[in-house]
Amino acid sequence: MSFQSYADIIIDISHENLDKTYQYAIPVEYSHLAVIGALVLVPFGQGNRTINGYIVGLSNEPKINIDKIKPISSVVEGAPVIESHLIYLAYWIKETFGGTMNDALKTVMPVKKAVKIKEQRSIILTKPCEELKQIYELQEKKNNVARVRILKALLDENILDYDNAIQTLNISRPVISWLIDNEIIRIESRQLYRNPIDKQNSAQTKVTLNDEQQSIASHIINDYNEGRLQTYLIHGITGSGKTEVYMEVISEVVASGKQVIVLIPEIALTYQTVNRFYERFGERISILNSRMSDGERYDQSLRAKKGEIDIMIGPRSALFTPFKNLGLIIIDEEHEGSYKSETTPKYHAVEVARKRAELTGAFVILGSATPSLESYKRSVSGDYKLYNLTKRAKEANPPKIWVVDLREELKQKNRSIFSIKLKELIEERLRNKEQIMLFINRRGYSGFVSCRSCGHVMKCSHCDISLTSHVNGKLLCHYCGYEERMPNICPDCGSKYIAAFGTGTQKVEELVRREFPGARVLRMDTDTTKNKGGHQKILSAFANHKADILVGTQMIVKGHDFPLVSLVGIIAADLSLYAGDFRASERTYQLLSQAAGRAGRDVIPGEVVIQTYHPEHYSIISAANGNYEEFYEQEMLYRRLMHYPPAAHILLVLITAKDEEKAERGITHVGEALKEYISTNKLSSQIIGPAPASLAKAKDIYRRVIYIKDDNYDILVAIKNYLEGYFSYSGQFVGCGLQFDFNPMNTY
Ligand code: ADP
Ligand code: ZN
Ligand code: ZN
Repeated sequence: MSFQSYADIIIDISHENLDKTYQYAIPVEYSHLAVIGALVLVPFGQGNRTINGYIVGLSNEPKINIDKIKPISSVVEGAPVIESHLIYLAYWIKETFGGTMNDALKTVMPVKKAVKIKEQRSIILTKPCEELKQIYELQEKKNNVARVRILKALLDENILDYDNAIQTLNISRPVISWLIDNEIIRIESRQLYRNPIDKQNSAQTKVTLNDEQQSIASHIINDYNEGRLQTYLIHGITGSGKTEVYMEVISEVVASGKQVIVLIPEIALTYQTVNRFYERFGERISILNSRMSDGERYDQSLRAKKGEIDIMIGPRSALFTPFKNLGLIIIDEEHEGSYKSETTPKYHAVEVARKRAELTGAFVILGSATPSLESYKRSVSGDYKLYNLTKRAKEANPPKIWVVDLREELKQKNRSIFSIKLKELIEERLRNKEQIMLFINRRGYSGFVSCRSCGHVMKCSHCDISLTSHVNGKLLCHYCGYEERMPNICPDCGSKYIAAFGTGTQKVEELVRREFPGARVLRMDTDTTKNKGGHQKILSAFANHKADILVGTQMIVKGHDFPLVSLVGIIAADLSLYAGDFRASERTYQLLSQAAGRAGRDVIPGEVVIQTYHPEHYSIISAANGNYEEFYEQEMLYRRLMHYPPAAHILLVLITAKDEEKAERGITHVGEALKEYISTNKLSSQIIGPAPASLAKAKDIYRRVIYIKDDNYDILVAIKNYLEGYFSYSGQFVGCGLQFDFNPMNTY
């Protein structure tokens, strides 16, 4: 192997002006270490300052006068070397989604540097729950209060954080020793998800795939063995056994000597899910999650790199696991908004997974009960291969679904948030000691205005998107900036019951307690889950039947199985329907389907009540019928008509500034520059806005937006590149920030 003389280096500072490569000479003593992706120290700027950089290219050709090329000071040994295909991937991400090369490199790198690994210990229950209960009762009789405290905690949660438990439960060393000596617990270091179930206890046998599952797995495996690499979409209702199909394919890929990445949304990355993988694949898997420290993540990606594991399971960031011989990337619940990065570069995991697969000779499997329109459109057009799983794997009857028209309730003088039907069913469940979930569809909720008599919703006449009410009594469109006065009476029916809509979880909890005084109620929303582990705590309390009713936002519809839940009530399905965002109907369909999927997962047959002012809306009808294709057809009509993704592409341009005037001026300049660019290049792109963002001011920063629509993604990329250049050279944007988001998933 011959060594190269020069390295292109990107300086590790997130600064636009330094976002280019610099050439340095490679001293002979470092030639063997100077590979693409290596972390180096180089002299930079005045004086003898040395700073960090990464090698992104190697060559024997000097690009400038040799005398001006400085040598690399040193190559940092032991630092993670980024795989060269990941460097290319970073470059592709930067080009495709915007941002600097540094932003992109930071995205694909495991962790910046080797962080000292802080030991984190867990207390893990090793006895079955029934036995634990007996021990607990015995200790309670003997009045061993400290033992009772920790045993009780273990009954609630099978894994406890060591330091946290010792502190909050006030447990002494001898108590821990007693638990260990009696084989009630085991202490484990660091890895949160090491298989806590004793091997001999986990006699859970591998399931035999049913015909549908087997046929899908066989087709995919066959394609793989014959070298046909493509993207698959498995459309299967919740509980249809997608995970079993994944595992079947994974074992084939691993057996062939390749590695697998499995992406699961953080919220669904529960102990139960992870444990199924452990039971099948043992210790050759690893987990990433956001609760881990940088050190722990670094540690896990090092294990992947060294070939100690075959399977990495985690949320979006697990996509960049530095496997040497990647064979397969699985993205479960591919429609989830969390697969889109919220920070620059705002990449989508599905797109990046396909690119990484292409670069490394791997393939991709997407799975969902409610595929994104983007993915489904691609399978209709043949880009993806589509498979359907139509039956629940464990014979459970689908729930009975009631759609309640809230306008009728008002006519019958029922002003409560509970329809007569829902109230009746809640009371019945309480009598039968079964459980109830009440779901407030609040996602993306932004104060739309509707009439409670006829259901009319105030919409922008230019964008067909709901207007948002503001404190100054005006209604505003956050796409185009259109404004009108808040009406006093409904323009459609003349009723005076027209108002901004809003029902918070706290309010619902209060009303539940008032209406059903004997019921035990738990609430789950961003307030009650702020603390570490709060989310899990509420869910396990509910799973252990410590409450009759769980009230919550979309958080409650995922992750856990609750065998006693036989009723799901959706308080106001409309809330997400008018979120002021073109994906609102799609979200509503997804949320309603998921919520309905929670009812009657076991032996008790389930019922679902969907309360709405728009029982005729197609996303409510098709969710109630479980008919995805019908929903897809209807929604695509709207997207095509309005040129919204996936019928076209949208680029969001966000200008931020501390000073409102600067933000205003900045976005005006962007608008003018855009108009000129579009007319000179004879493009047919459509500009929408400028407008204040729906979050018009955040943390004292003003936010203004422009949307650009075009059928051709590459034209939007060219526009982004043009604006990036214009922004840094024109001098019109002092004090402004600029961000891009392609086909956004969120409102801005
Ligand atoms: P999904 O991922 O589509 O939600 P899962 O793979 O989690 O579905 O399957 C739901 C439940 O059904 C799980 O408990 C799983 O073990 C079980 N299951 C799936 N396939 C089979 C099968 N062929 N035979 C028996 N049980 C199955
Ligand atoms: Zn009306
Ligand atoms: Zn508008």
